[in-house]
Amino acid sequence: MSRPVTVVTGGSRGIGAATCLRLASDGHDLVVGYARDDEAAERTADAVREAGARCVTVRADTSDEADVERLFDTAAERLGAVTGLVNNAGVTGPLGRLADTDTAELRRVVEVNLLGTLLCSRRAARDMALRGAGVIVNVSSAAATLGSPGEYVHYAATKAAVDALTVGLSKELGPDGIRVNAVAPGLIDTEMHAAMGDPDRPARLAPSIPLGRPGDPAEVAAAVAWLLSPDSSYATGAVLRVAGGR
Ligand code: NAP
Repeated sequence: MSRPVTVVTGGSRGIGAATCLRLASDGHDLVVGYARDDEAAERTADAVREAGARCVTVRADTSDEADVERLFDTAAERLGAVTGLVNNAGVTGPLGRLADTDTAELRRVVEVNLLGTLLCSRRAARDMALRGAGVIVNVSSAAATLGSPGEYVHYAATKAAVDALTVGLSKELGPDGIRVNAVAPGLIDTEMHAAMGDPDRPARLAPSIPLGRPGDPAEVAAAVAWLLSPDSSYATGAVLRVAGGR
């Protein structure tokens, strides 16, 4: 049987990198998408290859239509038909109140988190429908239901949109043999918190999490891997919360 070929956007670091490693050990070949950090992408790709999988890295901004087309074209040329997509690339911008957030920041968060997910999902839907099979997993956030006041309500709004997209697209693509689900992580220990200006955020907020600690990227990767696997063959339109009870 041929191996699954899965595109992971933002696969170079954090949750995306953990997902690539988990999927490699589950028998997938991988396309590691990323935006800027070539070294991180190559590091992840090396680890994936060490786990026995084929892997290509593609520097592609998911908010750019031409980049997204090149990401999927490269995947198909180098590894064969794409069978899975993990829409993981995401940004928050600096923490703060909406009143203090500038327009360029709002636009960037919407373009990467929402438009990027739409562009990648559209291309995957076109390709997968031709084969009558495929799986899409969106990486949402617990922020979609928490709202994240004082931190990033605009980010939370894009993730709520991703949840709506997950439900709608699962119904649209079910008859084509394509499943669409989401994982909604809570506070996960990655570099994203430093990027938003608060590297200590996971440790600081740990006491407010029912399980008393931030999550590890591998714990999110396990949920993504399940949703990509045949074990979840009757699950579509689900948003699986992996948030330590938050
Ligand atoms: P991270 O450590 O900051 O990694 C972000 C990844 O996304 C990097 O590989 C980055 O590539 C890539 N990326 C950023 N913008 C991109 C773009 N425009 N096009 C393509 N790739 C892009 O983030 P993370 O914490 O792993 O988060 C991954 C996902 O989980 C995001 O969707 C995030 O919203 C979601 N999430 C995270 C948490 C958390 O607590 N960490 C909680 C809930 C949800 P470069 O390195 O090249 O920039």
